[in-house]
Amino acid sequence: MPRLTHEEILLWLRETEPTALEQLFARADAVRHAFVGDAVHLRGLIEISSYCVRQCHYCGLRMARSIPRYRMAREEILACARTAVRLGFGTVVLQAGEDYGIEAAWLADVLRAIKEETPLAITLSLGERMPHELRLWREAGADRYLLRFETSDPALYAAIHPRRGAAVSDRIALLGELRSMGYEIGGGVMVGIPGQTYEMLAHDIELFEQLDLDMIGIGPFLAHPDTPLGVPGVPTAGAEQVPSSEWMTLKAVALARLACPEANLPSTTALATINSVDGREHGLQSGANVFMPILTPAPYRQMYQIYPGRTCNEEDAIRCNACLRGRIGRLGRTVGEGPGGRSARRGEADPLPCDAGHAADAAAVKR
Ligand code: SF4
Repeated sequence: MPRLTHEEILLWLRETEPTALEQLFARADAVRHAFVGDAVHLRGLIEISSYCVRQCHYCGLRMARSIPRYRMAREEILACARTAVRLGFGTVVLQAGEDYGIEAAWLADVLRAIKEETPLAITLSLGERMPHELRLWREAGADRYLLRFETSDPALYAAIHPRRGAAVSDRIALLGELRSMGYEIGGGVMVGIPGQTYEMLAHDIELFEQLDLDMIGIGPFLAHPDTPLGVPGVPTAGAEQVPSSEWMTLKAVALARLACPEANLPSTTALATINSVDGREHGLQSGANVFMPILTPAPYRQMYQIYPGRTCNEEDAIRCNACLRGRIGRLGRTVGEGPGGRSARRGEADPLPCDAGHAADAAAVKR
């Protein structure tokens, strides 16, 4: 399938005409259908710790904030994993701030227990850890690692992610290491970071393809108000500033699907937060094929506030599951069975029967 050029990506990012954008979304939806099918995979999200040593200028969990924090116990994590199995999920995602209180050997034991007791795939999203720790977790059963690089522009990255002591942050290089360890790898970006230009976002999308990412998480930029970027008057890129809107996020999701047809793309919670009515559905109709329902126990959710107002904090996992399945069914899609990883799917994907653009036109009429 011919890929989009840099200029084409830029043109789409700048496009504002709704009819034209409907064609982009429909084209991405057709590519999604052809390469990863109609199944929407459910990944149960377990936020295992709210401690973090980092000071990201937009994040409610940044170390400088004096807030109540938690770290889940082994049995609590295992209980969430059992819930995931009961609800028919194929994967759990263990996510946390960059918390060195999560000891490598302790987590390896938890991973082994999940693997012994359940058929679940395990995705880790624990920040920049040492290679020997990442290798240990891979050997203990972790299947995938999600490390969003947030922007491919080094200066913008440095401006909003202060260094931790002398440590140099190179998430792109770390993703390469993770791949060499046998992980499926996931990256992703925020859309509408103050100072982010259309050129930068176009480069982000090209980087998804260059890294051949297995998973891509894209959400609108949402800053916690109690952070340096959460206050009014933050400098922007002027006329070249990418807005942190739903439409811009959907454009980035659609272009990511065209760049990486086989990748797993979540319709993110952040996207649902800026449009709580049907933001999730719009994500699924623009190229996404994954939902990530939250399994974190209720008392901890209030303490895991990367940004406030996170949509749908439905604390009852059974009700949340029913709601999501209803949303998926109303789109005429099915709920995915099993782990739903990219590598397991390879060789099974249908090639595009014809130019995706034709299918897109037909799908655009349906939307
Ligand atoms: S974005 Fe992640 S690494 Fe940065 S402060 Fe928040 S939890 Fe920590």
